[in-house]
Amino acid sequence: MNDKKIVVQKYGGTSVGTPERIKAVAEKIRQYVDRGISVVVVVSAMGHATDELIKLSMEINENPSRREMDMLLSTGEQVSISLLAMALQNIGIDAVSFTGSQIKLVTDGNFSNAKIQSISTERIMKYLNENNVVIVAGFQGIDDDENITTLGRGGSDTTAVALAAVLKSRDCEIYTDVNGVYTADPRIVEHTKKLNEISYDEMLELARLGAGVLHSRSVEFAKKYNIKLHVRSSFNSEEGTIVMPREEMMEKFLISGVTSKLNEAKITIRDIPDRPGIAAKLFELLGKNKIYVNMIVQSTGHDNKASISFTVLKENLKDAIAICNSLRGEFGISQGIESKENIAIVSAVGVGMLSAWGVAGRMFKVLSDHGINIEMISTSEIGISCVIDTKYAELAVKAIHEIFIELGQV
Ligand code: ASP
Ligand code: MG
Repeated sequence: MNDKKIVVQKYGGTSVGTPERIKAVAEKIRQYVDRGISVVVVVSAMGHATDELIKLSMEINENPSRREMDMLLSTGEQVSISLLAMALQNIGIDAVSFTGSQIKLVTDGNFSNAKIQSISTERIMKYLNENNVVIVAGFQGIDDDENITTLGRGGSDTTAVALAAVLKSRDCEIYTDVNGVYTADPRIVEHTKKLNEISYDEMLELARLGAGVLHSRSVEFAKKYNIKLHVRSSFNSEEGTIVMPREEMMEKFLISGVTSKLNEAKITIRDIPDRPGIAAKLFELLGKNKIYVNMIVQSTGHDNKASISFTVLKENLKDAIAICNSLRGEFGISQGIESKENIAIVSAVGVGMLSAWGVAGRMFKVLSDHGINIEMISTSEIGISCVIDTKYAELAVKAIHEIFIELGQV
């Protein structure tokens, strides 16, 4: 039985992007090994290797089968895990690398977006007990029929957290190319702040609403298994951001993040009958066709007619419109089904909203002060989102960030 402390670390693509970077990561790992810690490392493919593989496949077949795509994409990580093992061995540290299938990381059969079902710890523990650093390929697994699957882009985070869960480690470090989680995308907002702490719920909400730091399923896992995620840079040794239970946080801000999302489009159906079963039918059908619906707003008009607006991923817009059209007859829709692609969803998220008044009003006021029209609004316990025209996305994020974060938390 291994009674050493186990830490799971994940290094993203940029952190292992070049031979020098891989050597630097090996040195970082050494510091843990020297302290007597058992290290399990998950790595992403080097640099933009996954994107390159996708490009390559497009040159062969523009509509590749999802099974073969996963077969292809899983190879990126096989390169980085073996190179990292070699780098560790080169500095005298015993290391062994495994693909997802070799540690029996079993997923469902949903290629390109598979969900983890189980992971065997047997092989990992055997090698940890023999004082190896165990390196696991991120983002991949096998289904019941031993087909290679992948967990969706950015899925290595989820591999790492799932490993921490099965290895019963409370510590999972996510090494990336930024210093942690910021109050807004530093490429858009100049005066962003790095958060020392953020709750699982805020992180999930931010990920859902466009922040790209963490794969959202990794945060769900972390919350479920009470794992502390430390998001930090592999390029320095600064403390990053800890994603943790809300109850354990020292500082709770009104707003901890402002995001924008540009990959959705809006559909509006006017004059549909205002009676039970209509919305159910529409959204059931969209769901059956695996169309992800984000915001939904229904408003009642007159003469027992309603209108429904909702957002879907831009890539699903055509299919979603076709589904709406197929219900025309049954719903007795006479008017056109409208759609708009150039929308942005801007959101403010913070646990402080749970006990504050007037946050929505202040946010809408800032938008109106800048002449920005709000096309849809949706709220959750800890978030407010507005659909606006794409051309105002950056301006809106800057303005909301300024009043809620730069001008001090109220
Ligand atoms: N290499 C995969 C990707 O680029 C998985 C990951 O990086 O987490 O999406
Ligand atoms: Mg990544």
